[in-house]
Amino acid sequence: MALFRKIKQTISLLRNVDLDALGKISQKIDLPQVMAAVGELDDRQLQGLMKMLKSQSKKGQHKLPPIDGDFYDLSLKLSPEQREIQLKVRNFMEDEVKPIANDFWNRAEFPHHIIPKMAQLNICGMAYEGYGCPNQTFLMEGIMAMELARVDVSISTFFGVHSGLAMGSIYLCGSEAQKKEWLPKMQRMECIGAFGLTEPEVGSAVAGGLGTTCRQEGDEWVLNGQKKWIGNATFSDVTVIWARDEVSNKVKGFLVRKDTPGFTAEKMQDKMALRTVQNALITLSDCRVAEADRLQKCDSFKDTAKVLKMTRAAVAWQAVGCSRGAYESALKYTKKREQFGRPIASFQLIQNHLVEMVANLTAMQTLCFRLSELQDQQLLTDEHASLAKVFCSMRTRDVVSRAREVMGGNGILLEYDVARFVADAEAIYSYEGTKEINSLIVGRAITGYSAFVS
Ligand SMILES: Cc1cc2nc3c(=O)[nH]c(=O)nc-3n(C[C@H](O)[C@H](O)[C@H](O)COP(=O)(O)OP(=O)(O)OC[C@H]3O[C@@H](n4cnc5c(N)ncnc54)[C@H](O)[C@@H]3O)c2cc1C
Repeated sequence: MALFRKIKQTISLLRNVDLDALGKISQKIDLPQVMAAVGELDDRQLQGLMKMLKSQSKKGQHKLPPIDGDFYDLSLKLSPEQREIQLKVRNFMEDEVKPIANDFWNRAEFPHHIIPKMAQLNICGMAYEGYGCPNQTFLMEGIMAMELARVDVSISTFFGVHSGLAMGSIYLCGSEAQKKEWLPKMQRMECIGAFGLTEPEVGSAVAGGLGTTCRQEGDEWVLNGQKKWIGNATFSDVTVIWARDEVSNKVKGFLVRKDTPGFTAEKMQDKMALRTVQNALITLSDCRVAEADRLQKCDSFKDTAKVLKMTRAAVAWQAVGCSRGAYESALKYTKKREQFGRPIASFQLIQNHLVEMVANLTAMQTLCFRLSELQDQQLLTDEHASLAKVFCSMRTRDVVSRAREVMGGNGILLEYDVARFVADAEAIYSYEGTKEINSLIVGRAITGYSAFVS
């Protein structure tokens, strides 16, 4: 009879259990271990424990909910290993970058001293196979871009140029020998890369009209022209330069090593966004590059576009990170800041801004999550990547401006972080294809008509 009663009690207990909540708890604590420990308590000890928990939960009723921009708990979809990588990167950004981010941004300098510690995270070439790369998913690559941007969009951009654009060009367009030479040392961040496509006179129209030229002379190529906006190029060990062949008119890619005669990179001054990123104006004057350093698997701009398609998804995730950083800072601020004797977070109009922010952020995150799933299933198209880039960079402008608004005057002070996100959102909006260019790509896909100027 006693056994029957116990079974009945257990069944009625289980009926009351919120299985979803239990699932969430089991992600955070070792549930079997806790159950085993509870099982060893006698009745009196159990009653004492229940009393204690009840009184703690009553106290907790007055606690404010945690600040977290992952409203739909997307991180629960990650495996424990992936979650560990995410938290490792978050800790690095919070401990090593956040304390210095505003200062370096203000001085427009790059914090070179963080590179060795960043290398230890082992996140370069996240989704690439071989050559010392982690062989993780593109979803993780996106999550990384978000985590870096959540604290500092400049560091996320430095990383995206190195690991995405530069390593990605070699990974997709390099020969086996080129991959073996460059990728392992770039993965360890012993060697930093840059990516030179945009020019002073040619931005959106790079697909059809590069002004930088290359001409073959024996087993060398001669490069002439200029590149503008090239991130990391003032200190990079290798810069991928895209140039138009004077004979075939086709685009070719070159690995231009640091200190090559005829290659100069001048730091661009007075940017109002991503000030920590070192963007350069590159001049190529009869710059000679060996045929062995021409990207052997690039035959035309179509190959360059493959690199851009791969990295555009990470830029959409960067926008998520920028929004998340701004939203989390603003939410924290509104809970602390009091006016009229109450936290401003308790005002209806402030809550309206916060809800608009978290709604946009959640829409962006879920969209990017699906985008990365498509990428991991090798189903990603140009228009998928472009739609995410357009949507996320537009919504980010809205989120950061609301974040700035709920902070009043402090919203324009660097020390409150949001001002930096407001400025940096402008760079995300324009690079890796402007809103108009990415819209034209999506528009062509959904209507069947190309509205590009030919
Ligand atoms: C901070 C930053 C970092 C960057 N880093 C790099 C880098 O590392 N490497 C690199 O190669 N490049 C880099 N870029 C360059 C970036 O990719 C270009 O800025 C971008 O492609 C737009 O080119 P553009 O600035 O010349 O604008 P433009 O092409 O001159 O465009 C000006 C305006 O005209 C619109 N427009 C152009 N064509 C059309 C059309 N057909 N229909 C409708 N509207 C149109 C554009 O959308 C835009 O609004 C960076 C840019 C920034 C701002």
